[in-house]
Amino acid sequence: MDLEEETKFLIKKYNISANKNLGQNFLIDEQVVENIIEAAKISEEDIVIEIGPGLGTLTNKLLEKAKKVIAVELDNKMINILKDRFLLYNNFILLNEDVLKIDFDKLIKDQNIEKDTIKIVANLPYYITTPIIMKLLEEKVPAKSITVMIQKEVADRLTAIPGEKETGAITYCVYYYCESEKVMIVPSTSFIPEPQVSSEVITLNIRKNPPVNLKDEKKFFQIIKASFMQRRKTLINGLANSGIASKEKIKELLNSLRIIRKHKRRKFKHRAICRNCKQTIKYLTRGQLIKSQPFSDK
Ligand code: SAM
Repeated sequence: MDLEEETKFLIKKYNISANKNLGQNFLIDEQVVENIIEAAKISEEDIVIEIGPGLGTLTNKLLEKAKKVIAVELDNKMINILKDRFLLYNNFILLNEDVLKIDFDKLIKDQNIEKDTIKIVANLPYYITTPIIMKLLEEKVPAKSITVMIQKEVADRLTAIPGEKETGAITYCVYYYCESEKVMIVPSTSFIPEPQVSSEVITLNIRKNPPVNLKDEKKFFQIIKASFMQRRKTLINGLANSGIASKEKIKELLNSLRIIRKHKRRKFKHRAICRNCKQTIKYLTRGQLIKSQPFSDK
């Protein structure tokens, strides 16, 4: 039985249908599964945390390769199938939880996991890709790498170098914590049901040291997020509204920079940040919020 037949068989046997609200698009392409496993470089020392195992397509392969697989699945219907399928595996732990609510520190302690053995692998539910990645990075889940299938457009944003045209707030965060790698583009025909968007597998290798030394990490990302969120307001208003500093203080900081004066006449909107990352970093540095070298442009 190939993967497509197996998936259809499981769907029929358990009388389920894919739940769109939970981003259920089941992988049916053997080659893509192989490529994900290969990209994640799973060894028998590795503890894999799989997010959204669904019917268990990736899980099945991961269980063959890894020391342990901890799978986090929200949908009770999937939980029943996974319990049946992998009942006899003694390296399988199944958690019926919302990944966005998981306390990873506690999980790692409870499972007695050595920190440098964790790898995260997933065909992510696309509706919450960004919050999942942000949670993993901001909470500094001590993983070596994150190998995920995501929407292609989001993959472009996550793997961009800050300043490139695909840059979004999350680009800075991913770039700061990870070195990213694109693995493969996956057509919608590799899933049941077919998603309406193209997909891409990427690997984020967690950096040992960040590319810049931030004096105040939290504040830095607060600024980046505020700058990208307040789409129609000026940068000054955007930053002031996020409560980073008073409007006067921000004006003072911006006015002290030539770059700001240059943009002032045509209103320095937040989009300028996307256009020129180096100048943004320079502005932040001069504002004493971070002490760093600029992000490299590769
Ligand atoms: N891994 C399977 C595969 O490749 O065929 C299924 C992937 S499907 C794209 C996403 C999976 O994430 C579904 O099984 C869905 O139920 C699960 N999911 C959705 N939201 C979740 C959440 N908040 N926490 C944990 N799992 C979730």
